[in-house]
Amino acid sequence: MINRELRSIGKALPASARAHNRSVVLQQLFGSGPGSRAELARTTGLTRVTVSAVVEELSAEGFVTDLGLAQSEPGKVGKKATLVGLSDQHWQLASISLTNEGVLTGAILTLTGEVVHRHSEAGRLPAGQTGLDALTEFCRRVVQTADHRILGVGVSSPGIVSPDGVVEEAPNRGWHDLPLARDLTDALGVPVLVANDANCAALGEFTFGGADGSGLLRLVIGYGVGAGLVSGGVLLRGGRDAAGEIGHVTVVDERDDDEVLGAPIMCACGRRGCLETLLATPALRRAMAGLDTDEARQRHLRAVGQRLGRVLAPVVATLNITELVVSGPDDLLRGPLLAETRATIIARTLPRSHRALSVGVSRLGDEGALRGAAVLVLSDRLGIA
Ligand SMILES: [Zn+2]
Repeated sequence: MINRELRSIGKALPASARAHNRSVVLQQLFGSGPGSRAELARTTGLTRVTVSAVVEELSAEGFVTDLGLAQSEPGKVGKKATLVGLSDQHWQLASISLTNEGVLTGAILTLTGEVVHRHSEAGRLPAGQTGLDALTEFCRRVVQTADHRILGVGVSSPGIVSPDGVVEEAPNRGWHDLPLARDLTDALGVPVLVANDANCAALGEFTFGGADGSGLLRLVIGYGVGAGLVSGGVLLRGGRDAAGEIGHVTVVDERDDDEVLGAPIMCACGRRGCLETLLATPALRRAMAGLDTDEARQRHLRAVGQRLGRVLAPVVATLNITELVVSGPDDLLRGPLLAETRATIIARTLPRSHRALSVGVSRLGDEGALRGAAVLVLSDRLGIA
């Protein structure tokens, strides 16, 4: 089992022994599925008496439930044990993603992270307060479709987001120092957790996408470009919550005379030649539309892949990244672009740094941020992730 206890998202880890015991039992059931009380005692290191008390308490609150007798193991005689598992009969989670420009997505999930209802509404979220009001109403509509009580709502938002859910900077939304988590909590009457979308995607990849999280760089390519980092099973926030903001690193400068990429392009941030001006989905689509031949398109994608590789090589070397997982326009990422990114990273780092590196497209795709937003709730409310 992968130990997923050490998450540094949301609030601090539970301090009291009782909260700790609850969290390790829930974590075990989340990570490994149903088990008997004896198995729970063995895998968590708690005493059987403690496990029984914790299970009784969690059962009374509707978080776990008895699932009947275990199948007896072949060749083993004796009394069959009752299996305990996470309950899907009392609580659900809601998650909301603002990652994709022009569409709001939401989901209702079980405690095990299974999506039971999906929501998608087209339309661009207006800037400022009007956008906040529209978002609040969307959240309300999603929450209303729950079949059970809502444990919390996780929101994946663009921009730089503090651990307590203040969107410090989201220029595309016109949000600055917006206490989004607090405002939505007040409006909806349930706890709301907010995190940066690339961080949510990284958490989603770690918890639901099969990433082992020892050295994960999750690159999100959409309207902008961002990254979420998980190292040693812990989300890296950085000194000012802005770890992974690589979209505005300059990759084409004035001195460059790149025959494929041309002169540096003006970026939304006011500077020229940022990674986003090459790699964001609209930029890639625009470039593809302006090229006549398949050969020219392939050459362009290789050139973009190389610039991405140059940005990522020092990150891979510094953090010993072993999993580079990307989501974005699949048709453009698979093939020359990511192949060139990989080749560039390998050319620019020691074998020791890149030997274990895997480069690939996320299996969760756009759903990663939505699943990751659910992880925020599981982590904050139950200490599991
Ligand atoms: Zn920029």
